[in-house]
Amino acid sequence: MLENLNLLPLNEWEEYKGRPFMIAGPCSAETEKQVMDTALGLKALGKVDVYRAGIWKPRTRPNSFEGVGSKGLPWLKKVKQETGLPISTEVANAKHVYEALKFGVDILWIGARTSANPFAVQEIADAMKGADVSVLIKNPVNPDLDLWIGAMERIHQAGIKKIGMIHRGFSTYEKIKYRNLPQWQIPIELKSRLPQIPLLVDPSHISGRADLVFDVSQRAMDLNFDGLMVETHINPKVALSDAKQQVTPEELGQIIEQLVLRDPKPHNNSELNILGDLRQKIDWIDDQLLDLFEQRMEIVKHIGEYKRDNNISVLQNSRWEEIIYTSIEKGAKKGLSREFINNTFKAIHQESINHQMEILNNRK
Ligand code: PEP
Ligand code: MN
Repeated sequence: MLENLNLLPLNEWEEYKGRPFMIAGPCSAETEKQVMDTALGLKALGKVDVYRAGIWKPRTRPNSFEGVGSKGLPWLKKVKQETGLPISTEVANAKHVYEALKFGVDILWIGARTSANPFAVQEIADAMKGADVSVLIKNPVNPDLDLWIGAMERIHQAGIKKIGMIHRGFSTYEKIKYRNLPQWQIPIELKSRLPQIPLLVDPSHISGRADLVFDVSQRAMDLNFDGLMVETHINPKVALSDAKQQVTPEELGQIIEQLVLRDPKPHNNSELNILGDLRQKIDWIDDQLLDLFEQRMEIVKHIGEYKRDNNISVLQNSRWEEIIYTSIEKGAKKGLSREFINNTFKAIHQESINHQMEILNNRK
């Protein structure tokens, strides 16, 4: 069902191979001058493919700047006329879609708060029916891959064929280095489930800080994602929204310059052979891990039977805490992170409990 997906300015997708597809522009359109000056600065870099600016801003709290609304659309149209850059903006309801299409917006994106809401996404999808427009879908604020893919399917079912996804991180209550948790395993899983859909990264909303935009962008390149959406403002200090995370067009130029681009595949047979040997070793170790898991579960089965026959509960908390504690200690000495050991042993433990529960509930 998803064949022929292709993002509009990526009609000639080959042209972009080997470099990130770059969307840049301010968080919000504020004034005609700010919109134009930022666009001219970006055009001058020669490395930006699409201009972005938020016209309607979904804000977490009320009484902050909620965007200039439709009066900013002619400014975007002017950017397109004067720079030749395709233009993009966020839509959160049917009215936004109609207005943006009226002004020739080339790419509509669905924001993280909207993609979390299937009713809103469906309304937007219905409003897009029959339009020749590209759509980018940001991940929902909550780390739910199926919800993200579901939003994409709603848009696709409305007949839109030019679709891409944007990873912008996930909301968190924890105070962390980033504004939004990257949880890279989720976009990685998306890429493996839907390899034909372009996947961009929004380092601005992930990091929340201009000085971290490069690191997150590099990470996206290391993972071989297709492009970036970077918030760029002619004078970030006075930006009316997301001031801390916006970079100037010049700074974006330096970021692009410094990015190390990784080739998706080995270059020749000798590289392929070296990687092939190492991968064989990994496969062999993975087989051993599976054998060990099998042996472990065999013992778990005996424990389960013993507990069943002697009427002892499955979960023995103190035993579990001891396992996790000593494993983390031992793992640290082997250079394995606390997080890795914790997650791995939790998964193993859960599987053991599942096996035992089955035994306890299948009485002889
Ligand atoms: C934005 O791109 O300006 C925006 C509001 O992003 P998000 O939906 O990712 O928060
Ligand atoms: Mn923003």
